[in-house]
Amino acid sequence: MKKILEVDNLSVSFDTYGGEVKAVRGVSFELSEGETLAIVGESGSGKSVTAQSLMQLVPMPPGKFVSGSIMFDGEDLAQKSEKQMESIRGKDISMIFQDPMTSLNPTMTVGKQISEGLIKHQNMSQKEALVRAVELLKLVGIPNPETRVKQYPHQYSGGMRQRAMIAIALACNPKVLIADEPTTALDVTIQAQILDLMRGLQEETGTAIILITHDLGVVANAAKRVVVMYGGKIVESGNVDDIFYNPKHPYTWGLLASMPKIDGGGDEELLAIPGSPPDLADPPKGCPFAARCPYAMKVCKEKMPDYKDVSDTQKTACWLLDERAPEVEIPESAVI
Ligand code: SF4
Ligand code: MG
Repeated sequence: MKKILEVDNLSVSFDTYGGEVKAVRGVSFELSEGETLAIVGESGSGKSVTAQSLMQLVPMPPGKFVSGSIMFDGEDLAQKSEKQMESIRGKDISMIFQDPMTSLNPTMTVGKQISEGLIKHQNMSQKEALVRAVELLKLVGIPNPETRVKQYPHQYSGGMRQRAMIAIALACNPKVLIADEPTTALDVTIQAQILDLMRGLQEETGTAIILITHDLGVVANAAKRVVVMYGGKIVESGNVDDIFYNPKHPYTWGLLASMPKIDGGGDEELLAIPGSPPDLADPPKGCPFAARCPYAMKVCKEKMPDYKDVSDTQKTACWLLDERAPEVEIPESAVI
């Protein structure tokens, strides 16, 4: 598959009164045409900032681009001006957010909001755009689209608003869709419907998706590849099967242990990872997970481990993979 996006050594900081918060520290990953890549991590791991950086949506200042390149279709998005980005956002790369209420415009009909991109990027007339808006609402499974197109966001249910956001995001057939916790605010049944919808639309349109989530459960059905972030860094990446069945990083083990098991009957104990993420105003010099890791060794606190190729598809940054480290088995709690 052709690579559509190649992020190399991306670092983004925020200037705060408490010092420079290094939110994203040297992140590299690739996205192929038509694939779904999940970026997983707790809040504060840097996953949302990474996603926003791809579209230059991090407010600068206080945000600050420190280093890296974001190659999209042979051009570096990190070097684009705001004006150039405006012609890319919504057309080539679109984004949907956790809470449609804050990103939909409450004073504009849904039809008008879908039309905007079509008029701007595809030179449609207002009339043509509205016809297309009705088609798009139908495509995302909103009943009575002819009526719904004239309504305002508050007249929609939460699930329908998320569908409307997807319609807006997909209006111009973007090559990449970035979805930041798209189902977190929704109840479980609606979550499943929205993920199904995204998967179905992806098959039809071939849009590549970057799915940002704190929930590994969402990843299992939705993504093909997974990047696990912690403390502003990628700690492990691999195919879904690598991450679920052969995880090598203790943080991934922690995420798996805190996930409900398929055959658990719903009454098993979920293990939250004790402790809190590192202070990125003063990031640890070694492994970012060292303060919370039950396996931490002396070297972990002193030096960031290199990425080791576990297989052709999996990379992990952990000192346990060094030949000098003691042998550690995947804990029972992380076996799914
Ligand atoms: Fe734990 Fe050390 Fe591996 Fe970090 S490098 S996850 S502290 S064992
Ligand atoms: Mg977030």
